[in-house]
Order: sequence, then structure tokens, then C-alpha cells
Amino acid sequence: MADKSAKAKQRIAEDLIRLMAIPGLAGHEGRVRADLKGVLEELGVATSTDVLGNLIATLEGEADAPSVMLIAHMDQLGFVVRRIEPDGFVRVERLGGVPERALASQAVLFQIADGKDRPGVIANKSHHATLPEEKYRVVPYRELYIDTGLDSAQAVRACGIDIGTPVVYRPNAMKLGADRIAGTAIDDRAGCAVLLEAVRRFVDAEPRSTVHIVFSVQEEFNLRGALPAAQALQPDIAIQLDLALATDTPDMADRGEIALGGGPAISLYSFHGRGTLNGAIPHPALVRLFETAGGEIGSPLQRSAQSGVLTETSYVQLVGAGVAVIDIGFPCRYTHSSLEVCDLGDLAALADLLATAVTNIGPDFNLDRDEFPQ
Ligand SMILES: [Zn+2]
Repeated sequence: MADKSAKAKQRIAEDLIRLMAIPGLAGHEGRVRADLKGVLEELGVATSTDVLGNLIATLEGEADAPSVMLIAHMDQLGFVVRRIEPDGFVRVERLGGVPERALASQAVLFQIADGKDRPGVIANKSHHATLPEEKYRVVPYRELYIDTGLDSAQAVRACGIDIGTPVVYRPNAMKLGADRIAGTAIDDRAGCAVLLEAVRRFVDAEPRSTVHIVFSVQEEFNLRGALPAAQALQPDIAIQLDLALATDTPDMADRGEIALGGGPAISLYSFHGRGTLNGAIPHPALVRLFETAGGEIGSPLQRSAQSGVLTETSYVQLVGAGVAVIDIGFPCRYTHSSLEVCDLGDLAALADLLATAVTNIGPDFNLDRDEFPQ
């Protein structure tokens, strides 16, 4: 058993590191999708791609068991080129929840085409010339500029950079300590890697329910990329794999009780008020399902209740006559920064938890709300 989980952890680490090396700004997920599609095909799982770019695979189960949709998003946050200055400096628009106070001096990548991507550096005013009143000021993204090493707009355009070109943090992955990984877009390439591992389990031992695998698009953009997939597949249940905010660092201690390395988490409450006004309160049958599965695999679940976070389940739950949803996740530190941190043990346990829970869904699985008077 220990050997089995060590191998799972190894596979997840390999998938994660490979996926993090692939740029995939929201709306530009093609290369990430091609990689995932290749892995699924190797496993003998056929896929289709919808018009938004969602990668979908269906493992057929028994017709009388509720159908399940599993979601992990392929895209990452970043920028879009908005202006190229005559002297070659590039200005960008932000895409997604980009932390402006962590942008200066970051290395970035212009996502042009495989083999043609170009690096850049987000400028930071020379320290020797920084005035006292500038020292502790966050520079808004509109004032930032990217240095590509090219000295004219013409040279910049000649290498394929134009208005609208996607820009991401330069892909990066490094091992920290024994079991931790720091890297770009752990949100949500780690979710993708976990979902791949769960698919391997489903190929070995087929679940009774029909399981739809959805690697979704544009989550960091508008959180609704998975909606057309949900509308087409009409699942009874949707489960999203994404990060859970780790709160075990000095700056996060009052936000919750999620520890990195403490195992997988379930979200009991998420809400986002700024412009979105949405969130997810999970179906009680799914909370029970995952708590039971956690007991079976010997990994008690960490519990998350947070405002300021949101996933696609918030929208998917409203499809058709309603979909029972839950968010399950891996603890993650420094979210949306260029180097997020996760723990491989958490990812392996999350894959085990997901596979165990889904396998426990059969024809007798009851979603009737009246069974849950609370
Ligand atoms: Zn995410």
C-alpha cells in the first residue's frame, strides 16, 4: 500500500511539473489541453473538445446511478498586451486575480506559439533612484512595463508580440524540502494532475456511476468556462478540484485551520462578493460522501469556509434543475503569486479521496434534500 501511494505521488509530481511548464493563459489553453488529451488517449480514454475549449471525457457507468462531473481548470491568470511603446516597452492589461504588489521584477513569458514564446521582465525602477515616497508604494499594473530586450515596437512586433498577445508568469517549478513543490499555476495544474491520477484509478476499477471528466477553460477569467460542458452533460453531481487556502503561515493564521501537508480539504462555504456575488454551499449528501471516504483512506478532511474564493461550481450548481456540488481541494500557499506552494502528500491523498468517493456512488446514492432536514 505504501509502495502504491509512493508511486501515485511520483506520477502526480511528474504530471504537475510537466503541466506547470506549459503556458496556458485563460482563453489560450490549447497547449495544456493537447498535453492532457495525449495522456488520456494513452490511458485509452477518448476525449472531445467543445467550442470554448473544454476537454471532456466520459466513462460510462450504470444508467440508474447519478452521473458525476469532475472539474479541474486548465487555465492560469496573467496578462494581455495592451500597448507597445515606440521604444519597445510593452504595457499589459491584467487577466484574473493578479496580485499587483507582487509583480515588479517578475519574469514573464509572451505566449506566442510553441517554440516561439519570448521572455520578458516586468520592470522595477532602479533602487538607487527610488525616492523615499516611492519605497513602500505598490505600482499599479497600468504603470508597469515589460522589458523584452528589444529596442523598438517594430522589433517587438517582428517576434510575434502584438496587442492581445497572452502573457504569463515565466513557468517555474522547484522542489522544496522533501515533499513540497513551488511553482507557477499550481492553481490549478495540481488539480489537473490529481484528476489524471483519479482517471488512472477509474480505468483500473470502473466506477458504477457515469463519470464525466472536464478539464475546463477560463476559470481565472470569468468562472463560467465549465458552464457549457455542464449544460451539455447535465450531470447530477459536480465536484471541483482546486486549491484550498492554506492558513498556516504567520500572515494567514486568523483565516482558518488549513495546514499545508495536513491532507485534502472540503469547502463548506465559499463566497465572493466583489462583482460576482456567488459562492457554493455543498450538498449535504456530498459532504457525507467525502467525510466517509476520508475515513476509509485514513485521511480526516480539513475544513474550509472562506469568503473571497470561488470556483466554477458556483455557476454549475445552477444548471438545469440544479446540480449537487462540492469543492474539494489541496492546501496551497501564496495563491496567485508567481510561486505558489503545495504538498505532494496532499495531492496524492486528494486523488485517493476523490477516487474512493466517486467509486462509492452507486444507484442507491440519495440526493433527496428531504433526507437532510438540517
Ligand atoms: Zn483555481
